[in-house]
Amino acid sequence: MENNIDKQRHSLAHIMAYAVKELYPNVKFGMGPAIESGFYYDFEFPITLEQKDLAKIENRMREIIKREVAFTKKDISKKEAKELFSNQTFKLDLITDIEGETVSTYESGKFTDLCIGPHIKSTKEIKADAFKLTKVAGAYWKGSEKNKMLTRIYGIAFDTKKELDEYVAMQQEAEKRDHRKLGKDLRIFIFSELVGPGLPLWLPNGTTIIDQLESLAKDMENKAGYLRVKTPHIAKEEMYKKSGHLPYYAESMFPPMVLDEDGVKTTYYLKAMNCPHHHQIYAAEPKSYRSLPLRLAEYGTCYRYEKSGELFGLMRVRSMQMNDAHIYCTEEQFAKEFMAVIKLYLQYFKIFGIKKYIMRLSTHSKEGLGKKYIDNEVLWNKTETMVRDIMKKSKIPFVEVPNEAAFYGPKIDVEVWSAIGREFTLATNQVDFAVPERFGLTYIDKGGKEKTPICIHRAPLSTHERLIGFLIEHYAGNFPVWLAPVQVWVVPISDSHRKYAKLVAQDLKENNIRVELKDENETLGKKIREGQGQKIPYLLIIGDKEIKKKSVGVRERKKGDLGMLKFSKFVEQIKKEIESKK
Ligand SMILES: [Zn+2]
Ligand SMILES: [Zn+2]
Repeated sequence: MENNIDKQRHSLAHIMAYAVKELYPNVKFGMGPAIESGFYYDFEFPITLEQKDLAKIENRMREIIKREVAFTKKDISKKEAKELFSNQTFKLDLITDIEGETVSTYESGKFTDLCIGPHIKSTKEIKADAFKLTKVAGAYWKGSEKNKMLTRIYGIAFDTKKELDEYVAMQQEAEKRDHRKLGKDLRIFIFSELVGPGLPLWLPNGTTIIDQLESLAKDMENKAGYLRVKTPHIAKEEMYKKSGHLPYYAESMFPPMVLDEDGVKTTYYLKAMNCPHHHQIYAAEPKSYRSLPLRLAEYGTCYRYEKSGELFGLMRVRSMQMNDAHIYCTEEQFAKEFMAVIKLYLQYFKIFGIKKYIMRLSTHSKEGLGKKYIDNEVLWNKTETMVRDIMKKSKIPFVEVPNEAAFYGPKIDVEVWSAIGREFTLATNQVDFAVPERFGLTYIDKGGKEKTPICIHRAPLSTHERLIGFLIEHYAGNFPVWLAPVQVWVVPISDSHRKYAKLVAQDLKENNIRVELKDENETLGKKIREGQGQKIPYLLIIGDKEIKKKSVGVRERKKGDLGMLKFSKFVEQIKKEIESKK
């Protein structure tokens, strides 16, 4: 904790515990660390704490802050500590976990906590109006379901009130943009009890978005020399053993299916990744250096088991359609291929208006070799150096994270920020120097020698589920015209305008524009409100004037009434807008 704000946040956790102690003397204390944007503390309360009780705790915290309480570190022996915390079961538990004979404590006023610090010197350093308690939640002691459920109080804290207010405003905006809420309102996807948790069903609107994303991906991949393949959703256990996914990845896979054919039993799994299938396609024909690079692409559907408690809207699901591809190349081709993938990411960021992003290069750790990672240090160092050099050359912002690699090679995780500044991990780009060998994938090099190709796993558009979840928030449901499920509503003012409205709608359809005719018996005002609610980019209003002049009254979703426009002119304009993907 080098940052003063982290020290303040952690100190506020102590102050909260102090306030709770004054208000509920029989409380038992768990742990209270600083976290991103704030802090929390876990307690065992003698009562059931409710959200409304937070104001009282918050006020008491402000009183304590005003007392200008100092934080004093004291090292004491374990024996003394056990006496000091004699009626605090959780603290005693922590003391037994600590190695050595002394433990470190922090005293602030009449509250002492077991803690290694660091802390601020005094509550004078905290601005009493720049923090807020936010919510009450349940949390298992030490995060294990086997332990007692405690009450966790979360708080947020910043250097200034202004920062706090901005953060709160951003959270509120994020709530409005929540993909689960907008996904329902805009009829994009649903979940069904009968289908099962984590298995989204895409409604016609969502499917249109998917189709547009796929056609974008196909277009980009065609231009970049990818070949498209399709593979089944299941495969035999044997293949996943060969790939190494079984047994290591078994927990993330759905349970096996056993097929009994005339007494011969075969075990199948739903596919959790497309790679082993693609490796089979690679292996189907002998390869020479001339066949490489070979880039196999598939929007493959994968199934992964996530605990039901961890499922979250479209962001954490059990079935996913992945913008997958595997690039098989020689060592000499690697840098160019890897760079091309990185450039593809950047092209997508531009299309989606993603302005802030960072790439995380995850590398191996020496200790993990042979356990978490394939045991070949020379190859690890070599591939990591290659990737690092490429990243440095590309001048793309990146950070290096040790001990986070995939088991077969280093990877790059791409993090992006939505329009309101929320962070999402979208896609990965992985180097694989191990699995091709396990599958016996080879090519004959220029000198006639048999070699193993390197494989790049990449998914710049992530999965449809994750990307669309992100885009809903990013655009607040206002999809750009090229992506909008319905691009135009044609709205006749009264019965006498229906016939012309129908012709307009038909004409738009023939121009490949996604249009709906809104000729129900409702008032114009109601239809306009509804169209705005559905975030339809253009409403075309048809009345006497418009018919007479072969025109349409244009209402744009953000700018409102744009006045009358020749119908042919409108078609020309919207087609241009769609083509430019703006
Ligand atoms: Zn502390
Ligand atoms: Zn893969």
